[in-house]
Amino acid sequence: MKAILPGSAIGVLGSGQLGRMFAIAARRMGYRVHTFSPDQDTPTGQVADLEVTAAYEDLDAVRDFARNVSVVTFEFENVPTATAQAASECTAVRPNGEILHITQQRVREKQFITKAGLPLTPYREVHSREQLQTALHELGYPAVLKSAAFGYDGKGQFLVKSPDQLTEAWEAVGADQAVLEAFIDFEREISVVAARGVDGSFVHYGAIENEHSHRILDISIAPARIDPKLAAQAVEIARVVLEKLEVVGVLCVEFFVTRVGELLINELAPRPHNSGHLTFDACVTSQFEQQLRAVCGLPLGSTARYRPAAMANLLGELWSKGEPDWAGACEYPQIKLHLYGKLEPRAGRKMGHLTALECDVEQAASLVIQARRRLLE
Ligand code: AMP
Repeated sequence: MKAILPGSAIGVLGSGQLGRMFAIAARRMGYRVHTFSPDQDTPTGQVADLEVTAAYEDLDAVRDFARNVSVVTFEFENVPTATAQAASECTAVRPNGEILHITQQRVREKQFITKAGLPLTPYREVHSREQLQTALHELGYPAVLKSAAFGYDGKGQFLVKSPDQLTEAWEAVGADQAVLEAFIDFEREISVVAARGVDGSFVHYGAIENEHSHRILDISIAPARIDPKLAAQAVEIARVVLEKLEVVGVLCVEFFVTRVGELLINELAPRPHNSGHLTFDACVTSQFEQQLRAVCGLPLGSTARYRPAAMANLLGELWSKGEPDWAGACEYPQIKLHLYGKLEPRAGRKMGHLTALECDVEQAASLVIQARRRLLE
């Protein structure tokens, strides 16, 4: 297959911050970027050459969009399968629609992980209150009920602590297809962001450590503070996932590290991931450029990290007392500020992030937290 070269147009389904950072990487290398989503003046649209506003279900609009680009990729995995299918009638879609189909539904994703012989959080599929009761009996308390259709950032989830919460949990999740997961009292959470090229080549960014707050990623640090052997195991698991799914592009595997040093897969994201945002400033090739290289059939770039790094998310809450003090954060010369151009700062909404590079991860994490606090002073 011939590589898709600079000057070509790349189509992105979805228009959030992941598409924005992808578009920045692509435009830096001389590509044109078209984005497709139901919204206007989007984070991706603001930096793309062309912003197409149409419903994902408008398959004629999807085909038109696809005809005008050399390859379609996505930054949002919850686009309907029919959308990816319609695009693939007109141009290459990478990664392919089958990967979307598997990873946009928890039951299918968990069945894939089980079949691949990889370790995952114990779970039961539940379709009714009665099945939920049986599953709770089998897995014990606490347990996490999640709608099978993927929410993101902990949406569509309920932590069931005791039997009297059964009805409340079932109604709160409000899905007729759900999974109940054992609650993992983890030691920490890590992720591996990796990429696979058209030729099967594989690169990764090592294990990244993640701290969540209210189920939303708060801080990521790289490298993760874990035994290098465990990090190597996590990378090997990610390699198997990308290989078995025949991914062309970037995929992130999120893990729980248990208190006995065991790895359990939490979930997969078939695209650049929030935990990989620090690669933008910290690595020779960011996860976004890597996605571009992979979907264009170019050789993958070096993932070498310049220095230990940390990233802190900036959520809408930061705006509760007005515009944060951007100049204040810039008083830290080593801090890199990223804002996504979102106009409405809602609570829990990812508006931007900060990255710090330091001599060690502790210093990087403490600097990024300090700079974020400074935004509010
Ligand atoms: P998810 O959207 O499923 O990745 O969940 C978001 C976050 O909620 C995870 O990163 C964990 O911090 C927490 N969480 C989700 N599922 C579990 C679980 N089974 N046990 C413990 N914590 C969980």
